[in-house]
Amino acid sequence: MPKHNNTEDRLSEIVSEHVNRLVAAISEAVREDIAGQLRDFLGGPTSVSRPGRLARATPNGRNTRGCIAPGCMNQSKGPRFRYLCTDHLGASRKDVEAWRAAKAADRARAGRASRVVAGANRPGAKSRRNMDCMAPACTNVSKGPRFRYLCADHLGASKRDIEAWRTAKRAMPRGN
Ligand SMILES: [Zn+2]
Ligand SMILES: [Zn+2]
Repeated sequence: MPKHNNTEDRLSEIVSEHVNRLVAAISEAVREDIAGQLRDFLGGPTSVSRPGRLARATPNGRNTRGCIAPGCMNQSKGPRFRYLCTDHLGASRKDVEAWRAAKAADRARAGRASRVVAGANRPGAKSRRNMDCMAPACTNVSKGPRFRYLCADHLGASKRDIEAWRTAKRAMPRGN
């Protein structure tokens, strides 16, 4: 008697076929690294707290941000609501602009501060913007600190000349 005439067998065949497909689809999903999204989706907001790394990785992305109103601890309603919470949605355009500017300035300050701190420990950071050859009027790029900031043409210059150029360079304003 052929198998498919038996309803139960037929059913279990269908089920197992679908289960196999489901398993394949899930393995595919895992391989594509959407497992985390799936978990978030299935688990809902109460299940797993997102790792902070994720939140920081997408500062302008889909993560919710706080309201930009000063001292407001509410969650904003996102970019489409100018990063305002429901309480501050009705704020005047002028206020919102001011808050935005303050927020941007804060971020810039924070960014600059961390850059300065990071750069302080790296000897290469300061010299990078001053990579011109030390020799006066020479527009070549120097070969770096290990070559006393001289280009290939001026590498053979006398120690006295180099000292003089160095002093002159130091007297000059930064960034030239
Ligand atoms: Zn608010
Ligand atoms: Zn040179």
